[in-house]
Amino acid sequence: MRMCSIASGSSGNCIYVGSDNTHLLVDTGISKKRIEEGLKALDIKGDELDGILITHEHSDHIQGLGVFSRKYEVPIYATPGTIEGILSYSGLGEMPDGLLHPIHTDEAFTLGDVTVNPFAISHDANEPAGYRMECDGKSVAVATDLGKYDEYIVERLKNLDAVLLEANHDIHMLEVGGYPYYLKQRILGDKGHL
Ligand SMILES: [Zn+2]
Repeated sequence: MRMCSIASGSSGNCIYVGSDNTHLLVDTGISKKRIEEGLKALDIKGDELDGILITHEHSDHIQGLGVFSRKYEVPIYATPGTIEGILSYSGLGEMPDGLLHPIHTDEAFTLGDVTVNPFAISHDANEPAGYRMECDGKSVAVATDLGKYDEYIVERLKNLDAVLLEANHDIHMLEVGGYPYYLKQRILGDKGHL
């Protein structure tokens, strides 16, 4: 099993996770072209993907979703709240029927030979989720945009071979920096970022 960050940060997030037989993306917050280039570097084609897992509907996580999924018709998995958020995203465009599949936090499901365990995260979005994925005794997890962590999160991130977390602010730099007050409060809050 391998995990590779194709892009991360506030300009766009896209992570590849897969086994020899199953290829998944977590989030598609970059352009279709950049997703294709990232996959190509991993020797994978868009039409070989088995699923796209979405963590939440902020544009830096779904920007490329409409264009990419229209071209390759890859099934999309997200919580009902996130699906609602995706459908109301203005940059989405027309979605082919039957591509969006609701999944629920703490209810595992399988895609090919990968078991996916979605878990709830604290972030200012509509029912955001992180994903723990297991295959052949190996496990990895993606937990980006986490406002805080607690027992529940620690439990879900135990015994992993790799985890992709995001901790993108320095409290002092943020406080003295030029962001407006509301944005500083949002980033520092329990529903912002670590
Ligand atoms: Zn976000």
